[in-house]
Amino acid sequence: MSLLKRSTIVVTQREPSEILQEAIAGFSQATRRVGSDDRKRLSWLLEFVYLSEEKLAELSESEKAQLCFDLAYFANISGQWELPPLEEIASLASEIRNGIDRLRRTRRWVIELPKDSIIERIIEPRPKRRAGHIRLDGYHSFYGSDDFRTSFLLCAADTAEAEGTRIRVCAQKDCGRMFARHRRARYCSSRCSQKERDLRFRKRFTKTERRERRQRYYKNRMAKLHGPAVASKVKPRPVKPTPRK
Ligand SMILES: [Zn+2]
Repeated sequence: MSLLKRSTIVVTQREPSEILQEAIAGFSQATRRVGSDDRKRLSWLLEFVYLSEEKLAELSESEKAQLCFDLAYFANISGQWELPPLEEIASLASEIRNGIDRLRRTRRWVIELPKDSIIERIIEPRPKRRAGHIRLDGYHSFYGSDDFRTSFLLCAADTAEAEGTRIRVCAQKDCGRMFARHRRARYCSSRCSQKERDLRFRKRFTKTERRERRQRYYKNRMAKLHGPAVASKVKPRPVKPTPRK
């Protein structure tokens, strides 16, 4: 994938300077959010594929505006561009989610591209590696299209091809989301890994043990913060009676 492609986003009926500033801000946010290398792009894509129509409808106006920039940046859309209808985005997300899931299970993903869209193969200089030296050290190519759906699917395919071996399913049993593994990560998010640690903690200790541990921890903290005199005054909290049903 090229790191040098640029997308232009045009919003109509506003002050030109304001529009430009917003576009610059939105674009730089998209660069950060989506990322420019394939691993980050795959992570972003695997978050994107879980966007349902309901979740999209819950987004605020500014979140929708940012999503518009993110989508354009990911799919290398240039020229005039506005957010496609939410159901179209949701259907694209679910199509890619199913495709990547199939790729993970069967090692194969056949992507059907929309008919009547122009597909281009662009060859351009490979981003230079050495700082300070501007010289041509080779070309690379990628596919693009004038059609958003086509372009997005092509970019998703490139990303999955480049970093697909990283795709894992979250080990948190209630989650099941796919994510791009970095190092030895087993969970899709810090939320899921915390959930799993909590579960393990609950399994290891009984309720009384957990209470005692909590109290010991609190007592030690008080001793550290205010000295042993204060810590010795720490009394266990009275146990609340469990309400009867
Ligand atoms: Zn998870």
